[in-house]
Amino acid sequence: MTDPRRLVPRTDLLLSDPRLVEAAGRLGSARVKAAVLAVQQLIRDGKLAPDQAVASVLANLPDAASSLTPVLNATGVVLHTNLGRARLSPPAVDAVQRASGYLDVEFDLGTGRRARRGRGTLHALEQLVPAADTALVVNNGAAALLLAVTALAAGREVVISRGELVEIGDGFRLPELIETTGARIREVGTTNRTSLADYAAAVGPQTGCVLKVHPSNFRIDGFTAGAGIAELATLDVPLVADIGSGLLHPDVLLPDEPDVTGSLAAGAGLVTCSGDKLLGGPQAGLIFGTAELVERLRRHPLARALRVDKLTLAALEASVAGPATPTARYLHADPVLLRQRCERVAATLRADTGAEVVPSAGAVGGGGAPGLELPGWAVALPEAFADALRHSRPVVIGRLEHGRCLLDLRCLEEAEEAALVDAVRQAASKLGEQIGRTLGERAGRTVSDPGAAG
Ligand SMILES: *Cc1c(COP(=O)(O)O)cnc(C)c1O
Repeated sequence: MTDPRRLVPRTDLLLSDPRLVEAAGRLGSARVKAAVLAVQQLIRDGKLAPDQAVASVLANLPDAASSLTPVLNATGVVLHTNLGRARLSPPAVDAVQRASGYLDVEFDLGTGRRARRGRGTLHALEQLVPAADTALVVNNGAAALLLAVTALAAGREVVISRGELVEIGDGFRLPELIETTGARIREVGTTNRTSLADYAAAVGPQTGCVLKVHPSNFRIDGFTAGAGIAELATLDVPLVADIGSGLLHPDVLLPDEPDVTGSLAAGAGLVTCSGDKLLGGPQAGLIFGTAELVERLRRHPLARALRVDKLTLAALEASVAGPATPTARYLHADPVLLRQRCERVAATLRADTGAEVVPSAGAVGGGGAPGLELPGWAVALPEAFADALRHSRPVVIGRLEHGRCLLDLRCLEEAEEAALVDAVRQAASKLGEQIGRTLGERAGRTVSDPGAAG
């Protein structure tokens, strides 16, 4: 028998194949070369025919230069932390694309001189929140809080209720963050009850600021009391409100979520929030407030370390100034329309999969509005689809509930339904007979983890 080594196509010959030259242009030559070496090894080991070399290299290359894989979010969780929180609107995506090259981010085209960085974005935010003198944008909500506490209270005290020393998610604990700034935490009140008098007794010459944190990811019911922003504003010290979600104005759907305008009107000196929660924009931290306090933050050296890039500025402006964001549309999706869409999708899939339409409670997610159920519908498939759909193209992430894989269409555009159907069909053909078996079972097992924590 011939030594298989002799049959292994040469590296330079493979790399000069036009299909691999094209792939190297998209993905980088190092990646393509690594795939070539791996395929040569398969041939050497007798596991692949030499004439399959190029096809096999192509099959082993990723779709894109970034390993981040887009997915269809069929979980019904609008701000799914594990799936990138808010989905950008088409105008925001366009803005990111336009901002990706050279641009006038710090340059005045009229005078040819340097200009204030991100002025268009800040202007858009200030227009939308007239209650604020001015705004500032940093890397994320945690950075906004870090900057506020550092600038106002480093070496001094932050007065905060014991009921608000929270963990936001993924091990991010507020007290630990505050301590990194060199500020001392002055705890007041108890876990369930804190009064204005508690704050008043703690405020003194050492106070840098009073901090009011919205408990965004949990609820305490029963014998509770707290001091609101309006009450705390009567204390003669800077008042910072971390509202978390980034609602600029109240939303009737979310009566328990504080909003920027309301918090400023009640007397907060600074309001901080995230850009990629209910605001529906890119990851960012927004700070609104009085000219004097925001200026103190802007001038602090830390502000430079927390500043955002041009892509964020572009996406943020387009998100707030443009049409309703996907986040807003998905939250307010009409259950009647959701049901019609599910019926349509289920009808095309029924023969292959036994799809049914079932009620499905959507969630805000992202650590916001815990316990709030958004009424909706889903296409129910046998449980085995959950796994298979994570390996189809496009990738579809559903939700496991009562031993079924639910595909909730809330966070999908209608134009994406065809791709979803396609993915389900791919999965169905891979699962083959397995579906027939699972169809019969339908045990009452619940495996539900919407990953909704912020
Ligand atoms: C989410 C949240 C944060 C953290 O914001 P990130 O943008 O995730 O850094 C801080 N405070 C509150 C109240 C939050 O809900």
